[in-house]
This record gives sequence, C-alpha cells and structure tokens, in this order.
Amino acid sequence: MKKAISVKNDLIETRLSEARDELGGLKNFPDPEFIGIIKDLGFSCELCARCCTKEFNDHVFLLNADLTAIRKIDPDAVIPAPYFEFCDQKGRFYVSGYALKSKPDGSCIFLDNKRCKIYEKRPSICRVYPHMLHREADSSGKVDWRQISGLNEHGSYHADLQDSECKAIAQETREYEEAYLKQMIDFYEAVLVHFKNNSLKHVQRTYDRIMREFLKGDCKLEVFVYSGNGFEKYDLKHEVDS
Ligand code: SF4
Repeated sequence: MKKAISVKNDLIETRLSEARDELGGLKNFPDPEFIGIIKDLGFSCELCARCCTKEFNDHVFLLNADLTAIRKIDPDAVIPAPYFEFCDQKGRFYVSGYALKSKPDGSCIFLDNKRCKIYEKRPSICRVYPHMLHREADSSGKVDWRQISGLNEHGSYHADLQDSECKAIAQETREYEEAYLKQMIDFYEAVLVHFKNNSLKHVQRTYDRIMREFLKGDCKLEVFVYSGNGFEKYDLKHEVDS
C-alpha cells in the first residue's frame, strides 16, 4: 500500500484559522449595533440593477444551497467562482464554490431589462445585498467590520426603515455571512484532507505560471470545485468576454 508523504500546507491552515476567527468575531458582533447601523443607513433600492453587473460586483458567489436551487432552474448557469484559492504541484486548482455566469456585457445571466428573471429564487447573496457583516479593507487599507457594500454608489439612503425590518435584515445578513464562512471552513478542511491523503501541497509559482498560460488562452484549467459533497471536477477554458 502506498504511504502518503506528510506535506505541510501552512497557507491552507492559516486560511482555515482566519475563517474560524472571523466566524467567532461575527457571532460576537453585537446585534443592537448592527441593527442600529442598518437603521441609520436606511438603504433603499432604486432598481438601477448595477449590483447585478460584473463591473459593480465582480461575481455572484453561490452557497451550496443556492447551487442546488440554481441547477434546478438552469444547470448551465454556473461556473467555478473566480480567484481560485489553491493550486497543487500538478497544476490542478481548488475553489470554494460556484458563481453565476455573466453575459458578454458583464450583467448576470439572469438579468433581463434591469430585472431579475428568478427574483423569487435568487441566490442568498442577492437577498441580503448590499448589507453585509464581515471584515474588509477600506480604500486606505484599514481592515474593519463593514455593514454595507457600495456606500453612496447606488440606491438612496436615510429611508425611515421600521425596527422590525432592520431586525429582519440583520438576521438574514448574519445567516448569510455565517453560512458563507461555514462553507469556507468546510472547503479548507476538505482541501487539507484531500492534500494530506494524496501527498499534495499548494504551490504558488505553479498557480501563477498556469494562470498566466490560461489567461493567454494557451491551456485549459482543471478546477476542483467544492460543492458541499466533496469536489467536482470542471474543465475550464478561457473565454475573453465571459
Ligand atoms: S440572480 Fe437576479 S438579483 Fe442576483 S445578480 Fe442575477 S439578476 Fe441580480
């Protein structure tokens, strides 16, 4: 029987530890403060649909529960989420989940005439956006808890939101952030087990080299996408406008 060689995977361990810390911080963030910020912001959507474009929000990350729902609507609407976390020494990439595909103009595949075609079944992030509760760097690089995305870049502010509405937004946003972090933790743990069992390690220079070749259109990528039940293999080819 082939014995797995012990390989250190410090980067994965570090990311796992950061995600666990973030989850702890999220649970400790005081609810009255979060609800108060939501009330003070008083965000109101003006249906500009900018949040449904790549230009504004890069991509729509899917939780595993979203993936199941979206695949029932259109199995071809998903793609591995960009910015793959790891690459092993054999040049295979690993990513924490799927994202929705975009149309060539950069808008979400489900956006039609500034309206969501699957509004009642839209993914979790679309339901809570632009509210958030996670640590993020601001334009000066200072990392702190952020509660809203795209402040003053879309929608209107200072609407008189009911207390019950603010409470509901806070709860749904927390649930999203918690589910997201749990998915990340599960993903890191699954990568660690897979790497350990197969004597694999993350190699940044292999990541950079293959990604450069891919972006030039010189190769396809073998991507292992975490889906909650392990990894799904996806052969990705570079499409300039996708
Ligand atoms: S699923 Fe709907 S709400 Fe979400 S980004 Fe796409 S069009 Fe917008």
